[in-house]
Amino acid sequence: MILDQFQRKHDYLRISITERCNLRCFYCMPEAGVALSPKSTLMTYEEILQIARTFVDMGVRKIRLTGGEPLVRKEVDFIIKGLGNLPVELAMTSNGILVHQHLETFKQAGLQKINISLDTLRPDRFVQITKRNTYSKVWQNIVLLQKQGFKVKINVVLMNDVNLDEIQDFILLTKQMPIQIQFIEFMPFDGNAWDWSRVVSKQEILGLTGAYFGEANLLKIEDGPNDTASNYQIKDHKGSFGIISTVSNPFCDSCNRLRLTANGHLKNCLFSNTESDLLGAYRRGEDIRPLILETVKAKEKERGGWAHFEDPEHPDNQYKNRSMILIGG
Ligand code: SAM
Ligand code: SF4
Repeated sequence: MILDQFQRKHDYLRISITERCNLRCFYCMPEAGVALSPKSTLMTYEEILQIARTFVDMGVRKIRLTGGEPLVRKEVDFIIKGLGNLPVELAMTSNGILVHQHLETFKQAGLQKINISLDTLRPDRFVQITKRNTYSKVWQNIVLLQKQGFKVKINVVLMNDVNLDEIQDFILLTKQMPIQIQFIEFMPFDGNAWDWSRVVSKQEILGLTGAYFGEANLLKIEDGPNDTASNYQIKDHKGSFGIISTVSNPFCDSCNRLRLTANGHLKNCLFSNTESDLLGAYRRGEDIRPLILETVKAKEKERGGWAHFEDPEHPDNQYKNRSMILIGG
Protein backbone atom coordinates (compact mmCIF):
# COMPACT_ATOMS: atom_id res chain seq x y z
CA MET A 1 0.00 0.00 0.00
CA ILE A 2 1.34 3.45 -0.90
CA LEU A 3 0.73 5.78 2.05
CA ASP A 4 1.88 9.32 2.68
CA GLN A 5 2.68 10.85 6.05
CA PHE A 6 -0.99 11.83 6.47
CA GLN A 7 -2.08 8.21 5.94
CA ARG A 8 -3.65 8.96 2.57
CA LYS A 9 -3.71 5.80 0.49
CA HIS A 10 -2.53 6.36 -3.09
CA ASP A 11 -4.20 3.90 -5.42
CA TYR A 12 -4.83 6.05 -8.51
CA LEU A 13 -2.08 6.66 -11.07
CA ARG A 14 -2.37 9.08 -13.96
CA ILE A 15 0.11 8.35 -16.72
CA SER A 16 0.97 10.90 -19.38
CA ILE A 17 1.99 8.97 -22.48
CA THR A 18 3.01 11.91 -24.66
CA GLU A 19 3.96 15.58 -24.42
CA ARG A 20 2.51 16.26 -27.88
CA CYS A 21 -0.94 17.51 -28.73
CA ASN A 22 -3.11 18.24 -31.74
CA LEU A 23 -4.70 21.27 -30.02
CA ARG A 24 -3.18 24.41 -28.49
CA CYS A 25 -5.52 25.29 -25.61
CA PHE A 26 -4.17 28.58 -24.28
CA TYR A 27 -4.64 27.66 -20.61
CA CYS A 28 -2.59 24.49 -21.03
CA MET A 29 0.01 25.06 -23.73
CA PRO A 30 2.07 28.28 -23.33
CA GLU A 31 1.90 30.68 -26.27
CA ALA A 32 5.60 30.18 -26.96
CA GLY A 33 5.18 26.38 -27.01
CA VAL A 34 7.07 24.02 -24.73
CA ALA A 35 10.47 22.41 -25.04
CA LEU A 36 9.72 18.76 -25.73
CA SER A 37 11.85 16.11 -24.05
CA PRO A 38 14.23 14.25 -26.39
CA LYS A 39 12.60 11.00 -27.55
CA SER A 40 15.27 8.88 -25.84
CA THR A 41 14.20 10.29 -22.47
CA LEU A 42 10.50 9.39 -22.89
CA MET A 43 9.09 6.14 -21.58
CA THR A 44 8.84 3.47 -24.28
CA TYR A 45 5.59 1.57 -24.28
CA GLU A 46 7.30 -1.44 -22.68
CA GLU A 47 8.61 0.82 -19.90
CA ILE A 48 5.14 2.27 -19.36
CA LEU A 49 3.73 -1.22 -18.92
CA GLN A 50 6.55 -2.40 -16.62
CA ILE A 51 6.42 0.69 -14.42
CA ALA A 52 2.61 0.55 -14.29
CA ARG A 53 2.84 -3.09 -13.21
CA THR A 54 5.08 -2.11 -10.28
CA PHE A 55 2.51 0.47 -9.16
CA VAL A 56 -0.26 -2.13 -9.43
CA ASP A 57 1.81 -4.57 -7.33
CA MET A 58 2.04 -1.79 -4.74
CA GLY A 59 -1.73 -1.29 -4.60
CA VAL A 60 -2.72 1.00 -7.48
CA ARG A 61 -6.25 0.11 -8.62
CA LYS A 62 -7.03 2.81 -11.15
CA ILE A 63 -4.96 4.10 -14.06
CA ARG A 64 -5.92 7.06 -16.24
CA LEU A 65 -4.08 7.80 -19.47
CA THR A 66 -3.50 11.41 -20.31
CA GLY A 67 -0.99 13.66 -22.09
CA GLY A 68 -0.55 15.94 -24.11
CA GLU A 69 -3.17 14.20 -26.16
CA PRO A 70 -2.85 10.46 -25.41
CA LEU A 71 -4.36 9.42 -28.74
CA VAL A 72 -1.63 11.08 -30.81
CA ARG A 73 0.91 8.58 -29.50
CA LYS A 74 1.57 5.95 -32.20
CA GLU A 75 1.66 2.97 -29.82
CA VAL A 76 -1.43 4.03 -27.89
CA ASP A 77 -3.37 0.88 -28.83
CA PHE A 78 -0.57 -1.38 -27.53
CA ILE A 79 -0.36 0.65 -24.34
CA ILE A 80 -4.11 0.49 -23.72
CA LYS A 81 -4.29 -3.23 -24.46
CA GLY A 82 -1.25 -3.91 -22.27
CA LEU A 83 -2.68 -1.96 -19.35
CA GLY A 84 -5.99 -3.74 -19.94
CA ASN A 85 -4.30 -6.96 -18.80
CA LEU A 86 -3.61 -5.48 -15.36
CA PRO A 87 -6.19 -5.71 -12.55
CA VAL A 88 -7.08 -2.02 -12.68
CA GLU A 89 -9.92 0.24 -13.68
CA LEU A 90 -8.70 1.90 -16.84
CA ALA A 91 -9.74 5.42 -17.85
CA MET A 92 -8.60 8.14 -20.21
CA THR A 93 -8.77 11.90 -20.61
CA SER A 94 -8.73 13.03 -24.25
CA ASN A 95 -9.63 16.01 -26.38
CA GLY A 96 -11.80 13.61 -28.38
CA ILE A 97 -10.52 14.34 -31.89
CA LEU A 98 -9.17 10.84 -32.60
CA VAL A 99 -11.46 8.79 -30.39
CA HIS A 100 -13.37 7.15 -33.29
CA GLN A 101 -10.18 5.43 -34.46
CA HIS A 102 -9.68 3.52 -31.21
CA LEU A 103 -13.11 2.32 -30.09
CA GLU A 104 -12.32 -1.38 -30.63
CA THR A 105 -9.15 -1.06 -28.56
CA PHE A 106 -11.08 0.60 -25.73
CA LYS A 107 -13.61 -2.22 -25.78
CA GLN A 108 -11.01 -4.99 -25.88
CA ALA A 109 -9.08 -3.43 -22.98
CA GLY A 110 -12.18 -2.72 -20.88
CA LEU A 111 -11.55 1.03 -20.98
CA GLN A 112 -15.03 2.40 -20.34
CA LYS A 113 -14.51 5.74 -18.61
CA ILE A 114 -13.55 8.53 -20.96
CA ASN A 115 -13.36 12.20 -20.09
CA ILE A 116 -13.52 14.46 -23.11
CA SER A 117 -12.34 18.04 -22.75
CA LEU A 118 -14.62 20.57 -24.40
CA ASP A 119 -14.80 24.11 -23.06
CA THR A 120 -17.40 25.55 -25.41
CA LEU A 121 -20.38 24.49 -27.50
CA ARG A 122 -19.69 27.29 -29.98
CA PRO A 123 -17.46 26.39 -32.93
CA ASP A 124 -16.01 29.92 -33.27
CA ARG A 125 -15.11 30.05 -29.60
CA PHE A 126 -13.57 26.57 -29.87
CA VAL A 127 -11.12 27.98 -32.42
CA GLN A 128 -10.26 30.89 -30.11
CA ILE A 129 -9.54 28.54 -27.20
CA THR A 130 -7.76 25.70 -29.01
CA LYS A 131 -6.40 27.47 -32.13
CA ARG A 132 -7.76 24.59 -34.21
CA ASN A 133 -11.02 24.07 -36.11
CA THR A 134 -12.08 20.61 -34.91
CA TYR A 135 -15.21 21.33 -32.88
CA SER A 136 -17.48 19.13 -35.04
CA LYS A 137 -15.20 16.11 -34.77
CA VAL A 138 -15.08 16.40 -30.98
CA TRP A 139 -18.84 16.72 -30.72
CA GLN A 140 -19.47 13.81 -33.14
CA ASN A 141 -17.15 11.64 -31.05
CA ILE A 142 -18.90 12.53 -27.81
CA VAL A 143 -22.18 11.40 -29.37
CA LEU A 144 -20.51 8.27 -30.76
CA LEU A 145 -19.05 7.31 -27.36
CA GLN A 146 -22.44 7.77 -25.77
CA LYS A 147 -24.18 5.63 -28.38
CA GLN A 148 -21.62 2.87 -27.90
CA GLY A 149 -22.21 2.75 -24.16
CA PHE A 150 -19.02 4.38 -22.81
CA LYS A 151 -19.21 6.37 -19.57
CA VAL A 152 -18.54 9.89 -20.75
CA LYS A 153 -17.74 13.02 -18.80
CA ILE A 154 -17.14 16.39 -20.41
CA ASN A 155 -14.37 18.46 -18.79
CA VAL A 156 -15.05 22.19 -19.04
CA VAL A 157 -12.42 24.64 -17.79
CA LEU A 158 -14.52 27.64 -16.80
CA MET A 159 -13.13 31.15 -17.02
CA ASN A 160 -14.89 34.42 -16.26
CA ASP A 161 -13.70 36.10 -19.44
CA VAL A 162 -14.09 33.10 -21.77
CA ASN A 163 -17.09 30.82 -21.28
CA LEU A 164 -18.99 31.83 -18.14
CA ASP A 165 -22.04 32.41 -20.35
CA GLU A 166 -22.19 28.73 -21.35
CA ILE A 167 -22.82 27.12 -17.95
CA GLN A 168 -26.54 26.72 -18.67
CA ASP A 169 -25.94 25.38 -22.19
CA PHE A 170 -23.66 22.67 -20.84
CA ILE A 171 -26.13 21.75 -18.11
CA LEU A 172 -28.95 21.66 -20.69
CA LEU A 173 -27.05 18.82 -22.39
CA THR A 174 -27.69 16.69 -19.31
CA LYS A 175 -31.44 16.92 -19.89
CA GLN A 176 -31.45 14.22 -22.57
CA MET A 177 -27.94 12.80 -22.35
CA PRO A 178 -26.81 10.59 -19.44
CA ILE A 179 -23.57 12.50 -19.35
CA GLN A 180 -21.63 14.24 -16.58
CA ILE A 181 -20.34 17.77 -17.07
CA GLN A 182 -17.31 18.60 -14.91
CA PHE A 183 -16.73 22.31 -14.43
CA ILE A 184 -13.05 22.69 -13.60
CA GLU A 185 -11.52 25.79 -12.06
CA PHE A 186 -8.85 27.46 -14.14
CA MET A 187 -5.55 26.51 -12.47
CA PRO A 188 -2.21 28.34 -12.52
CA PHE A 189 0.62 26.69 -14.43
CA ASP A 190 3.75 27.85 -16.11
CA GLY A 191 3.00 30.31 -18.93
CA ASN A 192 -0.83 30.32 -18.78
CA ALA A 193 -1.55 33.88 -17.59
CA TRP A 194 -3.52 32.68 -14.59
CA ASP A 195 -5.19 35.39 -12.61
CA TRP A 196 -7.50 35.03 -9.65
CA SER A 197 -10.07 37.26 -11.36
CA ARG A 198 -10.52 34.70 -14.17
CA VAL A 199 -11.46 31.89 -11.77
CA VAL A 200 -15.18 31.03 -11.49
CA SER A 201 -16.14 29.94 -7.99
CA LYS A 202 -18.49 27.13 -7.02
CA GLN A 203 -20.85 29.68 -5.45
CA GLU A 204 -21.04 31.58 -8.71
CA ILE A 205 -21.81 28.42 -10.72
CA LEU A 206 -24.49 27.34 -8.26
CA GLY A 207 -25.94 30.85 -8.12
CA LEU A 208 -26.27 31.10 -11.91
CA THR A 209 -27.62 27.55 -12.17
CA GLY A 210 -30.20 28.03 -9.42
CA ALA A 211 -31.34 31.28 -11.00
CA TYR A 212 -31.76 29.67 -14.43
CA PHE A 213 -33.26 26.27 -13.55
CA GLY A 214 -34.93 27.27 -10.26
CA GLU A 215 -33.43 26.69 -6.78
CA ALA A 216 -35.88 23.86 -6.04
CA ASN A 217 -34.73 21.95 -9.13
CA LEU A 218 -31.03 22.09 -8.24
CA LEU A 219 -30.34 18.86 -6.37
CA LYS A 220 -27.13 17.91 -4.55
CA ILE A 221 -26.21 14.30 -5.29
CA GLU A 222 -23.79 12.00 -3.51
CA ASP A 223 -20.04 12.33 -4.13
CA GLY A 224 -17.79 9.26 -4.40
CA PRO A 225 -15.12 8.59 -1.70
CA ASN A 226 -12.19 10.13 -3.62
CA ASP A 227 -14.29 12.34 -5.84
CA THR A 228 -12.70 15.65 -6.74
CA ALA A 229 -16.07 17.01 -7.85
CA SER A 230 -18.98 18.22 -5.78
CA ASN A 231 -21.90 16.73 -7.72
CA TYR A 232 -25.35 18.08 -8.63
CA GLN A 233 -28.27 17.31 -10.87
CA ILE A 234 -31.19 19.25 -12.26
CA LYS A 235 -34.45 17.54 -11.35
CA ASP A 236 -35.56 15.07 -14.07
CA HIS A 237 -32.36 15.47 -16.09
CA LYS A 238 -30.71 12.21 -17.21
CA GLY A 239 -27.18 13.45 -16.61
CA SER A 240 -25.52 15.44 -13.85
CA PHE A 241 -22.79 18.01 -13.29
CA GLY A 242 -19.86 18.38 -10.93
CA ILE A 243 -17.75 21.32 -9.79
CA ILE A 244 -14.03 20.81 -9.27
CA SER A 245 -12.72 23.70 -7.17
CA THR A 246 -9.07 22.79 -7.16
CA VAL A 247 -7.85 26.28 -6.42
CA SER A 248 -10.47 27.87 -4.20
CA ASN A 249 -11.56 24.81 -2.25
CA PRO A 250 -9.03 22.00 -2.68
CA PHE A 251 -9.99 18.39 -2.03
CA CYS A 252 -6.53 17.41 -0.77
CA ASP A 253 -7.76 15.55 2.34
CA SER A 254 -8.98 12.64 0.26
CA CYS A 255 -6.33 12.81 -2.47
CA ASN A 256 -5.33 9.37 -3.76
CA ARG A 257 -3.55 10.48 -6.95
CA LEU A 258 -0.07 10.09 -8.33
CA ARG A 259 1.19 11.41 -11.63
CA LEU A 260 3.75 9.92 -13.95
CA THR A 261 4.98 12.27 -16.66
CA ALA A 262 5.79 11.13 -20.20
CA ASN A 263 9.51 11.23 -19.34
CA GLY A 264 8.93 8.94 -16.39
CA HIS A 265 9.04 11.46 -13.54
CA LEU A 266 6.76 10.90 -10.56
CA LYS A 267 4.89 13.91 -9.18
CA ASN A 268 3.16 13.49 -5.84
CA CYS A 269 0.83 16.44 -6.48
CA LEU A 270 -0.37 18.45 -9.47
CA PHE A 271 1.00 21.61 -7.84
CA SER A 272 4.24 20.17 -6.55
CA ASN A 273 7.38 21.63 -8.11
CA THR A 274 9.49 18.62 -7.23
CA GLU A 275 9.53 15.26 -8.99
CA SER A 276 11.45 11.97 -8.88
CA ASP A 277 13.12 10.43 -11.89
CA LEU A 278 11.59 6.95 -11.77
CA LEU A 279 12.53 6.18 -15.35
CA GLY A 280 16.21 6.95 -14.66
CA ALA A 281 16.19 4.55 -11.70
CA TYR A 282 14.34 1.93 -13.76
CA ARG A 283 16.87 2.19 -16.61
CA ARG A 284 19.77 1.81 -14.16
CA GLY A 285 18.18 -1.49 -13.11
CA GLU A 286 17.29 -0.22 -9.63
CA ASP A 287 14.24 -1.27 -7.65
CA ILE A 288 11.91 1.73 -8.12
CA ARG A 289 9.65 0.89 -5.18
CA PRO A 290 11.72 2.71 -2.50
CA LEU A 291 11.78 5.85 -4.68
CA ILE A 292 8.00 5.69 -5.15
CA LEU A 293 7.44 5.39 -1.40
CA GLU A 294 9.92 8.17 -0.63
CA THR A 295 8.25 10.50 -3.18
CA VAL A 296 4.82 9.86 -1.72
CA LYS A 297 6.08 10.30 1.85
CA ALA A 298 7.26 13.80 0.86
CA LYS A 299 3.78 14.82 -0.32
CA GLU A 300 2.57 18.07 1.22
CA LYS A 301 -0.76 18.26 3.03
CA GLU A 302 -2.35 20.66 0.57
CA ARG A 303 -1.79 21.94 -3.01
CA GLY A 304 1.87 20.94 -3.16
CA GLY A 305 2.55 23.16 -0.14
CA TRP A 306 1.60 26.19 -2.16
CA ALA A 307 -0.72 27.86 0.29
CA HIS A 308 -1.01 31.41 -0.94
CA PHE A 309 -2.97 31.44 -4.19
CA GLU A 310 -4.93 34.36 -2.85
CA ASP A 311 -1.88 36.58 -3.04
CA PRO A 312 -0.06 36.50 -6.39
CA GLU A 313 2.64 38.76 -4.96
CA HIS A 314 3.44 36.35 -2.12
CA PRO A 315 7.03 35.02 -2.42
CA ASP A 316 5.71 31.44 -2.21
CA ASN A 317 3.86 32.07 -5.43
CA GLN A 318 6.94 32.89 -7.44
CA TYR A 319 7.39 29.20 -7.97
CA LYS A 320 8.05 27.09 -11.03
CA ASN A 321 6.03 24.10 -12.10
CA ARG A 322 5.65 22.38 -15.43
CA SER A 323 3.09 23.62 -17.92
CA MET A 324 -0.11 21.60 -17.71
CA ILE A 325 0.57 20.01 -21.10
CA LEU A 326 3.71 18.43 -19.60
CA ILE A 327 1.85 17.10 -16.56
CA GLY A 328 -1.42 15.79 -17.91
CA GLY A 329 -4.05 17.13 -15.53
N1 SAM B 1 -5.34 16.34 -24.12
C1 SAM B 1 -6.19 15.72 -23.18
C2 SAM B 1 -7.39 16.61 -22.88
O1 SAM B 1 -7.37 17.78 -23.21
O2 SAM B 1 -8.34 16.09 -22.30
C3 SAM B 1 -5.52 15.30 -21.89
C4 SAM B 1 -4.52 16.23 -21.27
S1 SAM B 1 -5.19 17.73 -20.60
C5 SAM B 1 -3.74 18.49 -19.92
C6 SAM B 1 -6.08 17.13 -19.18
C7 SAM B 1 -7.09 18.07 -18.61
O3 SAM B 1 -6.45 19.16 -18.02
C8 SAM B 1 -8.08 18.62 -19.62
O4 SAM B 1 -9.40 18.36 -19.19
C9 SAM B 1 -7.82 20.10 -19.60
O5 SAM B 1 -8.97 20.86 -19.83
C10 SAM B 1 -7.28 20.30 -18.19
N2 SAM B 1 -6.47 21.50 -18.04
C11 SAM B 1 -5.42 21.89 -18.78
N3 SAM B 1 -4.93 23.07 -18.33
C12 SAM B 1 -5.71 23.45 -17.29
C13 SAM B 1 -5.71 24.57 -16.42
N4 SAM B 1 -4.82 25.53 -16.52
N5 SAM B 1 -6.66 24.62 -15.46
C14 SAM B 1 -7.58 23.64 -15.35
N6 SAM B 1 -7.61 22.54 -16.13
C15 SAM B 1 -6.70 22.44 -17.10
FE1 SF4 C 1 -3.88 19.57 -25.68
FE2 SF4 C 1 -5.45 18.72 -23.75
FE3 SF4 C 1 -3.71 20.69 -23.31
FE4 SF4 C 1 -5.77 21.17 -24.88
S1 SF4 C 1 -5.87 20.63 -22.69
S2 SF4 C 1 -3.60 21.73 -25.31
S3 SF4 C 1 -6.08 19.22 -25.82
S4 SF4 C 1 -3.22 18.60 -23.76
